[in-house]
Amino acid sequence: SKEQFLNTHPSKLSPPKQPDGSDSFEKAEKMIQIARRKGSHHFEWVHLRSNGETFWVDVVLTKLFIDAKETIHVRWIDITELKAIQAKLEEQTKKAIEANKAKSEFLSNMSHEIRTPMNAIIGFTELLEEQLDQPRLKSYVKTIKNAGNALLLLINDILDLSKIEAGKLRIEKKPTDIHKLADELGTIFTLEVRKKGLDLLIDVQEDIPRSLYLDEVRLRQILFNLLGNAVKFTQEGSITLRVRALSVDEHRSKLDLLIEVEDTGIGIAKEQIDRIFNKFEQAEGQNIKKFGGTGLGLAISSKLAAMMDGRLSVQSELGKGSTFRLELFGIDIASIVEERQTREKLQKPRGNIRFGRAKVLVVDDIEDNRDLIVKNFENTRLEIITAENGKEAVFLALNQKPDLILMDIRMPTMDGIEATKRIKAVLDIPVVALTASVIAQEVDRKVEHTLFDGFLRKPVLRVDLFETLAKFLPHERIEEQYGSQEEFVLDQNTLKNIETIRKIFQEEIIPLKNKAMRTNNMTDIQALAASLREVAATYEIGFIDTFALQLEEAVNAFDIASIDALFKKFDIIVQKIKEQ
Ligand code: ADP
Repeated sequence: SKEQFLNTHPSKLSPPKQPDGSDSFEKAEKMIQIARRKGSHHFEWVHLRSNGETFWVDVVLTKLFIDAKETIHVRWIDITELKAIQAKLEEQTKKAIEANKAKSEFLSNMSHEIRTPMNAIIGFTELLEEQLDQPRLKSYVKTIKNAGNALLLLINDILDLSKIEAGKLRIEKKPTDIHKLADELGTIFTLEVRKKGLDLLIDVQEDIPRSLYLDEVRLRQILFNLLGNAVKFTQEGSITLRVRALSVDEHRSKLDLLIEVEDTGIGIAKEQIDRIFNKFEQAEGQNIKKFGGTGLGLAISSKLAAMMDGRLSVQSELGKGSTFRLELFGIDIASIVEERQTREKLQKPRGNIRFGRAKVLVVDDIEDNRDLIVKNFENTRLEIITAENGKEAVFLALNQKPDLILMDIRMPTMDGIEATKRIKAVLDIPVVALTASVIAQEVDRKVEHTLFDGFLRKPVLRVDLFETLAKFLPHERIEEQYGSQEEFVLDQNTLKNIETIRKIFQEEIIPLKNKAMRTNNMTDIQALAASLREVAATYEIGFIDTFALQLEEAVNAFDIASIDALFKKFDIIVQKIKEQ
């Protein structure tokens, strides 16, 4: 009660008013009450001494029963010193974080400046090595080259880490085929694995969708590093790259991925396991001469994993082997798969659909999926409008009256079924469902079949998407003859410049092509594609641009069969240009 409170209140120690101008007694009582209501037994307060000084107090409340009467006992502890230490610590932590960030930022800004001279050093050393024939000089140069390469590896790792720490690295998710990625990694490591007499097993669960939203570059970097370590630290036995899908959601629009790299190598001691994910740390007692390395690979990999909403961990037994587990959570399954350019497809003529003018409403809650669909229609006459949920779809449908709606079914706010019902109640617009479900809604199937005009299952092949839309939209079919001359039509504009174009081909493009054919080196093929694109852009030649793009795609996919087919196609283009 107030009386008892008054008894224990050190009013003599306090001036009547507090630093914030409030009445000392009232403020104390209010704060005690707030603390009690919250069920708390103490609170902090900037208090004013009667000499005018402010100081921090920790006020501790204790409930006592005196003569069976409830009493609140209040203890004031001066924590000014504690507060000062706390503030100083916070300040120092802040400074340390800022300094670390500044360092990382500096390094990541320097990236180009550091790499450029390194490339010159290594490049010219290689040239020099070729020119020398005195064994002793050759061996000196070789040492420079090896040291240079080791240094470049270290620099690349440090720069990567700095980029992550400076917050400059962005994860870019694009539809990625994990089956292809695993095969590719297998091919890359085959040679090294064979040299050591090891077995390499690539085991990817068959039914994992071929199009998942992943940052392919960064994922490849992590797996490259894990596989590299596995090979490095294994003397006999096998290495396995295993990919599994966990907890695929009911609609098959999301899944978790578990990727494991297992080896039968030297293993890691229990007490070392936590250390190896740290910067610059290698297992204690490890023979650096024997294994080399920077100790940065796992630090980078686990940071990248975290940035991808994932986790990197390891299970290991000394002398038996290690299993590194990369778990990635909540991966979106892409709705469209780019058709792979295989040799058959390049050579076989196929029907191509050219749409007339029409408006299509695309409804999907995942932004990347909407973008992907929009991109697929970029060079058509279709106008695409998008909505991110059922509610927005109903609004847009009624206001814009599209000619067709591509409707995702599972969405927040209002799902595709409800939205379609509402739209169909007013307008007669064909609605094609874009569903990811395979099992689940068997019950609803009947309803859906009468409601929707068509079904597409994610991930959709581009051809299937076009074919389905062609059922409802005005279009014409053009027979595209791959590998014949029909495809390459030179328009008036091109003909005007044909002399110059022929010269560029003669002097630049054809030599590049010959070199690329000879070396089969991806960099050379890329150089050819880049030159072609430049010519295409300068003289506005559509088919050369398309060709260059196909070539780039094939290179990026290491699709040797397509590259071969494209080289044949290239000869037809050259023929065409020469003939003019
Ligand atoms: P680096 O391999 O360049 O030293 P990492 O960060 O990739 O750097 O690895 C750190 C350390 O973790 C390695 O030096 C090694 O001690 C240990 N390690 C990593 N992978 C394996 C593995 N598969 N088997 C045994 N030890 C490993």
